[in-house]
Amino acid sequence: MERLIDFSRDRQMLCGGCGRRFVVDLDWVDRWEQTKETCPGCGMDSPRVTLDSGDPALDDDRVAQFSWYHTSTQPDWPTRAFDPAAVLAPETRRMMGGEQRVSAWAARQRAKALHVGTYEAAVHNMLRRIRDQADQRSQFYVYRVRLKPSVVVREGWLVDPSNFVGDVVLDEVCPPGVDAARYLNYHEDPGGLSLALGRGAIASVQRIAVPLPDTWDGGWTATGKLARFMQPPSSRAVLGRELGASLAGRLPVNLQDQFASAAAFAEGEDPEQWARWTSGLFDLIDDPTRVLAALDQQDPREV
Ligand SMILES: [Zn+2]
Repeated sequence: MERLIDFSRDRQMLCGGCGRRFVVDLDWVDRWEQTKETCPGCGMDSPRVTLDSGDPALDDDRVAQFSWYHTSTQPDWPTRAFDPAAVLAPETRRMMGGEQRVSAWAARQRAKALHVGTYEAAVHNMLRRIRDQADQRSQFYVYRVRLKPSVVVREGWLVDPSNFVGDVVLDEVCPPGVDAARYLNYHEDPGGLSLALGRGAIASVQRIAVPLPDTWDGGWTATGKLARFMQPPSSRAVLGRELGASLAGRLPVNLQDQFASAAAFAEGEDPEQWARWTSGLFDLIDDPTRVLAALDQQDPREV
């Protein structure tokens, strides 16, 4: 079952000073992050985004009925025989202190929880990775995750337990008998609920490569903007930035910086490929129904 996808929805704030709850739009959150807004109750800089009390994922019985999402550069997420040590060079293994240390490190990596969230959170996550983690032109995949109907959800919800790179040890958030723990996101789809879970909680996944092919409307050619890419290389980069920024300006404010940076035109890139990629990235946010329709076409892979 799909939940409503709305990147621009209002957010609930909770003041840590006076306890006041209030609803704001994303522009307010943006100004607040720049310390230009304060709590309307006490005037302090203490409010923080909190859970929407009407979030349907708060209903334990419905958690397993919803579609959950994940974005990854891994083509076979969640990888079955995940061996994080496999990619380590002999030199790295020596520097880590030898094989025993490497095994212990690999065990810790395998003990980490997987993360799934709303569609919005998955897209936020991908944009952040494209910007921050040198994944600029990596192939990304959107996964739609079906949970096992028998999944046991931890009561209530946790405050975002990760250190922002997703390093949550599964056993620490899911005690024995519990398969998944809800947590409040601060950074990706702020105010939304994500799940930390083990591989065993997942029934199946559907996968599409993103951006989707053929999403490009060609409008940029019609306006002659792409033709201007035939200009000297130095002005191409400027134009690429202008186009990226103008698209970014049409997105919710909390995605604009990340999008503009993810869509930055790199010198030497093929302009048409860049335009297609950037336009496809934009559509992930602007037109999620196409993504869901593409996912519908994919055979579920049992996990
Ligand atoms: Zn207050």
